[in-house]
Amino acid sequence: MKKILDGKNLSNYIIYNIYKKIQKYKKIGYRLPTLAVILVGNNKSSLLYVKRKHIACKASGIISLAYNLPYSINNNTLLKLIDKLNKDNKIDGILIQFPLPLHINTNKILEIISPEKDVDGLSPYNIGRLCQRIPLLRPCTSLGIITLLSKYKINILGLNTLVIGASNIVGRPMSMELLLSGCTVTIIHRFTKNLSYYVKKADLVIVSVGKINFIYGNIIKYGAIVIDVGINYNYNGDIKGDINFNSVYNKSSYITPVPGGVGPMTISALMYNTFISYKKKINNNYIL
Ligand code: NAD
Repeated sequence: MKKILDGKNLSNYIIYNIYKKIQKYKKIGYRLPTLAVILVGNNKSSLLYVKRKHIACKASGIISLAYNLPYSINNNTLLKLIDKLNKDNKIDGILIQFPLPLHINTNKILEIISPEKDVDGLSPYNIGRLCQRIPLLRPCTSLGIITLLSKYKINILGLNTLVIGASNIVGRPMSMELLLSGCTVTIIHRFTKNLSYYVKKADLVIVSVGKINFIYGNIIKYGAIVIDVGINYNYNGDIKGDINFNSVYNKSSYITPVPGGVGPMTISALMYNTFISYKKKINNNYIL
């Protein structure tokens, strides 16, 4: 159906194109791009996300190196590993699966990761570049959403947009991406009063809260574009988003499904970031 924004198909298409480009570099003698994937502990969702990232690397022609570390790892050991990966010329991207255990200083980790290898785009440097309208490596989920909207030729310039959720990983970078695309942006969070007042006025709503059925169609403006970032599990273990799909579907002009919407787009954005980080090295001629 036309109004469903199919992130799965688009993501596969992007990954296939990356694969083809990488093969061209390989043919002329360059090594393959390499992504280091760091997982700390064995959180069930994190294990699944990391597995999907390794699979996507394989499909893209990117070598993925798994660093599966125990939950008990300390700050210093993790910092030393990142330092080593920063210095390794054969590593193009470093991906740290979040959340990290509470005893790990996440901010410190993000600060020391080399900005050119920060393929998740979450380091203060890359977030700062995005804020200043000179993005380099852009956070994957918001980049994936912008790519999805643009590939469907949805013109968002000047739209009244609402981001629900203000996390460092999704909500904040999303608001910066929308601003960069010429939208008027409102961002709301757990302390916002009267959520429905904001939702009813929005032409484009992006929901990243982490609660099943958080938004129903009754407060959605007719014809709004609705993007569901949530990944939640119901009592049957099925994956559900943050919106009540059926009721929102009836009111919206475009909508993302869960699964098959934003999730795959996040992964193809990661592949894209890894590829551009690699390509930059090729252009600087220090990759062979
Ligand atoms: P988070 O838990 O870090 O942040 C949740 C945000 O929701 C906070 O800013 C909080 O203030 C806000 N919030 C909570 N209750 C609210 C309320 N009643 N009204 C308004 N705002 C409220 O979450 P996150 O990392 O942004 O993740 C959110 C969801 O998105 C989760 O389900 C997560 O699994 C999913 N996620 C999906 C992807 C993807 O690729 N599809 C990527 C990252 C996160």
